[in-house]
Amino acid sequence: MTAAQETTDRTEMTAVDVDAVIIGAGFSGLYMLHKLRDEMGLKARIYEAGGGVGGTWYWNRYPGARSDSDSYIYGFTFDEELWREWQWSERYPEQHEIRAYLEHVADRFDLNRDITFDTKVTAATFDEGSNTWTVTTDSGKQVTTQFVIAAVGSLSSSNTPAFPGVDSFAGDSYHTGQWPHDGVDFAGQRVGIVGTGASAVQAVPLIAREASDLTVFQRTANYIIPANNGPVPDDVRQARLADYQGIRERIQQSVFGFELTLLEEKAGESTQEEVDAQLMPRWEEGGFGIWLGSYVDIFFDDAANAKVRKFLHERIREKVDDPETAELLIPKGYPFGVKRNPLDSGYYETFNQPHVHLVDVKSNPIAEVTPTGLRLADGTAYEFDAIVYATGFDAMTGPMNKIEIRGRDGELLREKWEEGPRTYLGLTSVGFPNLFTITGPQSPSVLSNMPVSIEQHVDLVATIVGAARERGAATVEPTAEAEDAWVQENAELVKPTLFETAETWYMGANIPGKPRVFMPNLSFVGPYRHKCDEMVADDYRGFVFDGASSRTREGANA
Ligand code: NAP
Repeated sequence: MTAAQETTDRTEMTAVDVDAVIIGAGFSGLYMLHKLRDEMGLKARIYEAGGGVGGTWYWNRYPGARSDSDSYIYGFTFDEELWREWQWSERYPEQHEIRAYLEHVADRFDLNRDITFDTKVTAATFDEGSNTWTVTTDSGKQVTTQFVIAAVGSLSSSNTPAFPGVDSFAGDSYHTGQWPHDGVDFAGQRVGIVGTGASAVQAVPLIAREASDLTVFQRTANYIIPANNGPVPDDVRQARLADYQGIRERIQQSVFGFELTLLEEKAGESTQEEVDAQLMPRWEEGGFGIWLGSYVDIFFDDAANAKVRKFLHERIREKVDDPETAELLIPKGYPFGVKRNPLDSGYYETFNQPHVHLVDVKSNPIAEVTPTGLRLADGTAYEFDAIVYATGFDAMTGPMNKIEIRGRDGELLREKWEEGPRTYLGLTSVGFPNLFTITGPQSPSVLSNMPVSIEQHVDLVATIVGAARERGAATVEPTAEAEDAWVQENAELVKPTLFETAETWYMGANIPGKPRVFMPNLSFVGPYRHKCDEMVADDYRGFVFDGASSRTREGANA
């Protein structure tokens, strides 16, 4: 009897409940379900912790929450009718509108019937005897499946720093990533907000409108660019509607998933006046043009980067009345563009209001949370009715590491990733057959307009799953060589850049004890897609299809 026959015999009677379990009902999970179920005829089910679809947009309901991507490219493009029929009301889509969009998608493709809501996946265990996964949920349910697709998002595991006394506060505490569904009324309240990342930058101007007093605790100042939000002129809207195919192709082949093009000129070889002249129209236009659509050498050359920094520092000084506050808001000690740039709608100007205060907690850190507020290291105490933690996420690896994922030999994924993620293409990991992550670590992911990368990954996973089924393979798994090479390539890509010089969540630096490894892949959107396409064309280079699949599910079209 050959090894293959042995596997076949051993697994012959193995019944799986579903062909694929998908974890999460955000953009990734919804499209994955549609793809596997409606296009490929698989039995698939989503388990979703929230009470509805939306993923990140289900939980992040803080005031001002909206995407920083232009709405016409912040959605699915796989279905032209869907793209055409959904009209966004503004340049950047607001949280409730994105959630409504995803609810529309779920209705349109009749997805809800295969989603189990209010159910968290706590564990996934691979059984080498049957080549199946058993997925366990917090309701105690166990489901067997051939494939597991983690559509868990990159920024879904919220982080509240373990300040001493954090639970002692007698007022109300909120995390921006887990905002109450009924909203919060801050009218007349003294509010403290910890953090100055993208969430805080959006929330601060709106909380300041209600609160009687608002104190913002800043550890690291950010480079913040105007959003310039507003309605989209009708002629622009019409021109886009006429160019569906062109838009789709351009974003898919782009650097960052936007319709932005990097300049040929280098900032390092330009005068400050020339740099200012390039940057000013981008500043006025708003959005990521200054960052992802200007000089490429700013990511590699600190002297070039300094010219852009100088331009931005002047803009901050123009907006903020009090020179001391302006100096505090000017980022120091790291280059522009290596930390995620928030887009603002009146953030800087908010500090011109007399009831809004900025406190530097880099030089004088938060020492503890007290029953009445916060105390800093030098003993200064602040009293609040409410504290908002805009303190971010255990990014990229966090959502995967929260789940007890055990592969071959009972290996725990988070132990395998103890010194940083190890993947092939940011999609799969050796020892964890048939497990895929959508926009996981070591893929372009958070360095792109997410829906573009999500669509590409979902399509790719579907292609690989389809190939496994066509071949009658029980498992598909990367080789150790392919994974080693990909991990190495990730490290090589970031080396010549300035990304590793800053303390960012891209580097895991926001979470104490997390390995300091740059997690996104720097191939960029178009070239990364090309690498994946080549892998498929080269007979799934780097993957091993193993064993004969003989799982039997009632009615399965195995
Ligand atoms: P974030 O960017 O990680 O910001 C967290 C903030 O909390 C930082 O200012 C951080 O300071 C501060 N902080 C953390 N621990 C602290 C401590 N112990 N003491 C004092 N300050 C502390 O988180 P986020 O604002 O939620 O954004 C995360 C990401 O989500 C964004 O970068 C973006 O990719 C995405 N996002 C997107 C949008 C959008 O598209 N509009 C909106 C929100 C979020 P340090 O900088 O010093 O660590």
